[in-house]
Amino acid sequence: MNLILLGPPGSGKGTQGKRLGEFLKIPQISTGDILRQALENKTALGLKAKGYMERGALVPDEVIIGVMEERLGQADCSGGYLLDGFPRTVAQAEALEAMLTRSDCKIDRVLSLVVSQQELIQRMVGRGRADDKEEVVQQRLKVYEDQTAPLVDYYLKKGLLKVVEGMGPVEEITSRLLKSLR
Ligand code: AMP
Repeated sequence: MNLILLGPPGSGKGTQGKRLGEFLKIPQISTGDILRQALENKTALGLKAKGYMERGALVPDEVIIGVMEERLGQADCSGGYLLDGFPRTVAQAEALEAMLTRSDCKIDRVLSLVVSQQELIQRMVGRGRADDKEEVVQQRLKVYEDQTAPLVDYYLKKGLLKVVEGMGPVEEITSRLLKSLR
């Protein structure tokens, strides 16, 4: 099963993505984690991504698409995967579709986590990550609204979208997500 987990920053995508991946025994692939790792290791990718991440902007599509083309071609992805934080723009979604079509695959379901704006800000500020400073948080939410939210409609039109309420205890949200896959 090839899944996408969609949701604004702070919606619990990372936490839920890891849990779902374990339950479903498929790798959870987070572009944010890949980029943070690259930053830590000071690789060429990390250096390229650094400035964008620090100001809460998106890393350019062609960079991310290249990273994902390589990652999804790895052996552990052959039995399906859960994408967390990718695609984040319509251009990325189109590139993903083209990639999948070339290998005779498709996206099976897109899960959209919905959390109130107030809760999002509270969660992010409580997390203490480098890009969780108040003004960067605001910027990341704006970038989500402008560039990523259109994907909800994009996948709705393709009949792949399930909306899942992302508020409440972690375990409950996981079971809601699993239920929406049935
Ligand atoms: P995340 O952990 O998913 O919130 O991602 C952290 C940061 O990494 C984002 O604010 C972006 O700067 C960058 N990033 C992660 N995924 C993508 C993506 N698919 N496209 C562009 N930038 C991304």
